Formats: sequence, C-alpha cells, structure tokens
Amino acid sequence: MPATPTYAAAPLDKALADHTILDDFYGRVPTAARRTPMRELISTLLSHRTTHADEELAYDRMLEAFGDWEGVLAAPLDDLIHAIRTTRWPATQAPRIQEILGRIKTETGGSFDLNFLADWPTERGMTWLTDMPGIGLKTASLVLLFNFRKPVLPVDAHVHRVMQRLGVLGPKVSVEKAHPVLLDLLKPELDPEGLFNFHKHNYWHGQQICFFQRPNCPRCPLKGFCNYYLEHFGEATPEALAATPAHWDAAAWGKLPH
Ligand code: SF4
Repeated sequence: MPATPTYAAAPLDKALADHTILDDFYGRVPTAARRTPMRELISTLLSHRTTHADEELAYDRMLEAFGDWEGVLAAPLDDLIHAIRTTRWPATQAPRIQEILGRIKTETGGSFDLNFLADWPTERGMTWLTDMPGIGLKTASLVLLFNFRKPVLPVDAHVHRVMQRLGVLGPKVSVEKAHPVLLDLLKPELDPEGLFNFHKHNYWHGQQICFFQRPNCPRCPLKGFCNYYLEHFGEATPEALAATPAHWDAAAWGKLPH
C-alpha cells in the first residue's frame, strides 16, 4: 500500500490513496452488470430524483402495461405518463423514453438490444448515448462500465461529494464536469475493474459514512488526508487514526446497498 498522502497532496495521490484504502475497507468487488443494458439505461433515466422503489415500480408498470419495448414506443403518450407516474417528472420522461426507444429501434433494426455497444469504441458509444434526450455522462458511463466494461467512470452525487471533501475536485467543479476531470486523472492508472471499484466504493462511502449532512468522520479511513476533516477537526491525531475501523462491519452497521 502506498504511503498515506498529506492533506496538501496532489489530487492524483489522494484519489489513488482513496482507491487503495477503500478497496481494503469495503473489499474489492468483481465488475458485474446489475441489470441488462436496456434496463440500466431506462431505469437510470427513471431514477432521476426518484426513490429506488418508485423507479422500480414505474419500470415494472410500464412493461406490464405495454408488454415490451415496441409496445412502450407505440403507447399513447398519456398512457405512458400514467404508467410511470411514480417518477418525479413523468410528463418529461415519457416522451424522452419514446424518443430513446425510437433511436434504439433505428440502430438495432427493432431488436432493442444494446449489445452492439460492446464492439464500438468507447468514445463512439459515449457520444451516441449522451446524444439522447435526458441521458447525461453518468447514465451513459453506468451503461458502458457496468454492462460493457468500458474504461469510463460514473460520477454520482456521492462520488462527487467524497472527491470534493478530500480535495481531489475543486469546490466549483459540478457533477457533470467532474466526469472528464476524474477520468483524465484515473484512466491512466486504473483498468475498468479498478474504475468500477472506485465508483462502487466511493458511492458506498457517500451513502454510508460521508453523508451530506454530518459525515461520520470518526468511522472514516480517509481522515488522514481529507480537507473537510482538516477544516473541521484539525489534523487527525495518531489516536483518532488508531481508533478508525479497518473494515466495513456488516454485522454491526448493516449490509452495503447494491
Ligand atoms: S473524513 Fe469525513 S468528510 Fe472526509 S471523506 Fe471521511 S467522512 Fe467524508
């Protein structure tokens, strides 16, 4: 393991230390698709500012109501809006879904199978996906990394927050802008499995320890080089570092999310 960086260390050193330490803390996980490429794409679109349960409900109701993607594409718009009513903005998302399905139908000849993206260069796939309405860098990166092991890095609000607090990202870098910044930094260093673990670990960290309000810094193994910690508590003392748990304790703290 490389030496723990200082609070003033360069962004790359901090990002790599974060990667190494959280690999150990949460455990390395194999790159695995959590759902089919079509489901990843459409569910992530539906998930915008929507709970996971409501996103799943909308997805299931949509396919129950219209049978398959061809049916969703041909559905009367008002009926589709009604089917996905548990999402935050159904009237915005429904026409987007139909436009996306129309483009996928054109590209695939009606199979609605995104597996052709496996053979496309990463940049081409990224451009094709982000050209669709409502599909940003995060959603496109999730599909390309999770389903096709392409060397990209999805940045959600959790990853973004942890990176800003550590000082890897500047305070004014938005989530969207963070994608190229972090990828430029880490792509030369990490393969797709490393990028997948970087995403997963920092996502879990933001959800389970580095909360938006009142982060649980005593439990955090990154305190020795985190700018937020320095600003709020001063340099981590040897006692504080020694008291930090070495691993995520599922028995005491609960199972990690998907
Ligand atoms: S030390 Fe605190 S603020 Fe810094 S990454 Fe850990 S939990 Fe977040």
